[in-house]
Amino acid sequence: MIDVKHLVKEFELNGNTFRAVDDVSFHVDKGEIYGIIGLSGAGKSTLVRCLNRLEEPSEGEIYIDGVELMSLGKKELLAERKEIGMIFQSFNLFHQKTVFENIAYPLEIMKLPKEEIKERVEELLTFIDLESKRNSYPAEISGGQKQRVAIARALATKPKILLSDEGTSALDPANTEQILELLRRAVKDFDMTIIMITHQMEVAKDICDRIAVMENGKIIEENTVEALFQAPKQQRTRSFIKSLQDTTEEEIINPEDFKGKVIRLGYDKDTVHLPVLSHCIRKFNVDVNLISGNINKVSSSNIGYMIVELQGEKQTVYQAMDYLEEQGLRLEVL
Ligand code: ADP
Repeated sequence: MIDVKHLVKEFELNGNTFRAVDDVSFHVDKGEIYGIIGLSGAGKSTLVRCLNRLEEPSEGEIYIDGVELMSLGKKELLAERKEIGMIFQSFNLFHQKTVFENIAYPLEIMKLPKEEIKERVEELLTFIDLESKRNSYPAEISGGQKQRVAIARALATKPKILLSDEGTSALDPANTEQILELLRRAVKDFDMTIIMITHQMEVAKDICDRIAVMENGKIIEENTVEALFQAPKQQRTRSFIKSLQDTTEEEIINPEDFKGKVIRLGYDKDTVHLPVLSHCIRKFNVDVNLISGNINKVSSSNIGYMIVELQGEKQTVYQAMDYLEEQGLRLEVL
């Protein structure tokens, strides 16, 4: 669906060349929700703005359903842009236009007949559940409602792709959940593919299928959301994920305060139901002290971890640890 190859974006700054996007390649399948996370300044916005050539890439290729965007002339590019909607953190609605007029705007640019425009806008007002606000101005509706209007406007031309640049960052949790629900429905009902930048862990966990982590213009790691949160490959990803979360138990727990071995056990949808700890106690005659635990809903599955202390003979504790790993749990000694 989307294939990005060796994309580079350079800016000239005070006579120096600065690479905001540095040789980035990735692929997104149809129907996927692909997240991009990373520190501020990592190049996320620039990368996403390059995908519809709002920002002109310096080098590289972008394929959307096999069409190479970089080779398109101005007119062809305008036509192709109808396939790519975009929403922003700040909504970017026209303040002087009503909700109806905001959603109708891209269709008016396309010079569609009035009746057709009306029909499509009505459809979208129903989709975002804001029929009653059709004549309101952006100043008269809430932040969550503004973003719903922005989504309807982005979807007006029936694009295949929606780009979201921190689309939920300005919203409270209840409105964020509503917007995520709307995005999920857009994927399901309209066969869309979404690329979204977010710094909100909960958002990334909740909705993304795969995530790319950006740092200094590069994608340093890419994985399914489960794998990324459970077992980041890169130490830098791990620190980054930690920095986004509140203080974790691991930062509070000092293993040296415990006599036994303190371990972190990660489990997922396949291992969450196994009574491994009670087996372990019976089988190896070790004592298990549960220090903390956590379970998260990640996309469609539950993953979590426990931090436990294993007490007993050194040899049996090691055997117990091997056993836990054999059962499919991810084990890390703290
Ligand atoms: P992110 O979205 O990850 O916060 P950005 O893509 O906004 O990062 O920015 C990446 C880097 O590119 C930053 O250092 C930023 O200052 C720089 N940058 C972005 N846009 C421009 C521009 N128009 N001119 C010069 N530098 C820019």
